[in-house]
Amino acid sequence: MPPKAKAKKPNKETRNFEAEVKKLLDIVIHSLYTHKEIFLRELIANASDALDKLRILSLTEPEILKDDEPELLISLDIDKEKKTLTISDNGIGMTYDEVVENIGTIAKSGSKKFLEVLKQNKHTESDIELIGQFGVGFYSAFMVAEKVTLMTISPKEKMGVKWESMGDGTYNLEAVEKTSRGTQIILYLKDESEVESPSDENFLDQYTIQNLVKKHCNFINYPIRMNFYTEESEKDKDGKVIEGKNVTTVTEKTLNEIKPIWQKDRKEIKNEEYLEFYKQHFHDWNASADILHLKGEGATEFTALLFIPSVAPYNLYSPDYNSGLELYSKNMLIMSDCQELLPEYLKFVKGIVDSADLSLNISREMLQHNRQLRLIGNYLEKKVIDKLKEFRDKKRKKYEEIWKEYGKSIKGGIYTEYKNKEKLQDFLLFESSHSEKNLSTLKEYVERMPEKQKDIFYAVGETREYIENMPQMEVVKEKGVEVLYFTDKVDEFLTQNLHEYEGRSLQSVSRGDLKFGDDQEEDKDTNAEKDGKDESKDEKENAEKDKSQEKYKKLTDLMKEALGDKIKEVRVSNRLASSPVCLVSDSSGYSLNMERLMKDANQGFMRATKILEINSEHDIVENMHAMVEKGEPNGHVKNQTILLYNQALLIEGEKLEDPIDFSKRMSEVMIEALKT
Ligand code: ADP
Repeated sequence: MPPKAKAKKPNKETRNFEAEVKKLLDIVIHSLYTHKEIFLRELIANASDALDKLRILSLTEPEILKDDEPELLISLDIDKEKKTLTISDNGIGMTYDEVVENIGTIAKSGSKKFLEVLKQNKHTESDIELIGQFGVGFYSAFMVAEKVTLMTISPKEKMGVKWESMGDGTYNLEAVEKTSRGTQIILYLKDESEVESPSDENFLDQYTIQNLVKKHCNFINYPIRMNFYTEESEKDKDGKVIEGKNVTTVTEKTLNEIKPIWQKDRKEIKNEEYLEFYKQHFHDWNASADILHLKGEGATEFTALLFIPSVAPYNLYSPDYNSGLELYSKNMLIMSDCQELLPEYLKFVKGIVDSADLSLNISREMLQHNRQLRLIGNYLEKKVIDKLKEFRDKKRKKYEEIWKEYGKSIKGGIYTEYKNKEKLQDFLLFESSHSEKNLSTLKEYVERMPEKQKDIFYAVGETREYIENMPQMEVVKEKGVEVLYFTDKVDEFLTQNLHEYEGRSLQSVSRGDLKFGDDQEEDKDTNAEKDGKDESKDEKENAEKDKSQEKYKKLTDLMKEALGDKIKEVRVSNRLASSPVCLVSDSSGYSLNMERLMKDANQGFMRATKILEINSEHDIVENMHAMVEKGEPNGHVKNQTILLYNQALLIEGEKLEDPIDFSKRMSEVMIEALKT
């Protein structure tokens, strides 16, 4: 392939690491970790990724494998004299720009996140283990090496690149000849005696390296080879040992087991082996995972090995998260992120699908319409859902842990697609006024509902505490009605598709006209006299409501006039007990919370329809009412209205609309109070 036309590169240059990378290197180099050995698995994992990438590219561009190195492999080499350990792969390599981008100048979001984790935990021993998870594993080489040289060539280029650094803030780049495909990393190992806390490992010892590969990289899908040197006494023609003369024999060994674990019989695999495979294959060294090893027979035969990791990756909800399963055909990787297999809401599931029935060079476009793949996908989705069900019904604690990690994903499944509602609604968990300790499913809420309660009530707020103090909760609490607490920002969006559950509508305590229904009140009043109440209770209540709206009409009209089009309406509330006012929104359209979230996310701007509700039994409101009825000048009532409106805004977590005007009016009201 001809090299791309680009701006001319200098042949040799020195560059500075980005500030965050510099900080990271400083920690890696100067902290005394005993877990230094992890550098090896990080570099081998990178090599394995590079081989994956090359293999996938070769499906569409087979000529890149038609050189003298068709076998994809990783090789290790120890040079005791030079004190170097070299890790080579014949994978995809890197262009000049890619080297700069991947290792050095451009700070990756992972460096920053990793630094934050280190800072939080004051970088303890085990934190360094996380380095690979944040996409900065390469730098772990500097735990053991005083100098690192990387030579690489991309199939897109004619010239290779040499990158070299002592980890001291700068690195050198040079365009060089490189004849072998892929990347070679030479580690000039630190002299252990100079290190304050030498580890027991000698990384120049071939058996140490062999054991480390067995321990950390046994399940890498490519052979990891190393030359083994054994010294033997030289023998003469007759087979007699010649004293004082040694010969070195060299044998190449493959250090890892290459047979894919998913092809083995389930009965033969121990749980620890699955987990070890999971860690090594998905570079998730800390977490454990739940395992599904599935075999599909029938029209399409396949094997799948799926994992539900115990801890969500840090970037699960950001756009740079690589979702999708790995797709293999007869042990050959054909796609590393096949998103067609599992729905988006299960993107946290990691795994492998291997089907001999799939064609090797299947394209992404073809995959989207591939019937076999759809069948496999449907089967896998069902199996994962069954697994979640099993946790929910039989291991609740475990399910709650999974929910903590992936609840957002499952909720996303409901609010983005209505068709998922039925499938997923029973997996939702919410905090509830019923119990401080236990989360509740919708089903459990409904089971607890008094027979006569019609709706499922919920309240939206950042924390349990906030919700419990909301004015809108006052009457609900008095009546002892159970309320689900929507404390996650996305919870309220659920209601866009989840209007009802088993025929009961979901009703916000801050929206629309709150109706508890006669019957609920009756529940509370079971012992009170009921005579004559029953028949026309609904009508009576409505009539009463109308009457009170009528009674306060002059006041509410005046208040509406004072607030103009900031609000749609002022009305007498049936949800307040001790607060004078609260803001609610219409039962349709956006709520105040949704308006705020969309504004924060710069996602269009839709306004909620605000309604100011007043508590006719509150002293302030009574006083305002009396003043209006007496026909006293309106200025005072207007001031109070604006203050009350702003108070309601503050309770909602909104800013004051005009702080200066607010303070002025506040002072006026205080002066007024002094006079009386
Ligand atoms: P991660 O591998 O988690 O992304 P690293 O810091 O280990 O983070 O590596 C950074 C990037 O450098 C990799 O994503 C890859 O693009 C590139 N890279 C590292 N090692 C190799 C290699 N042996 N061959 C090709 N590219 C590599």
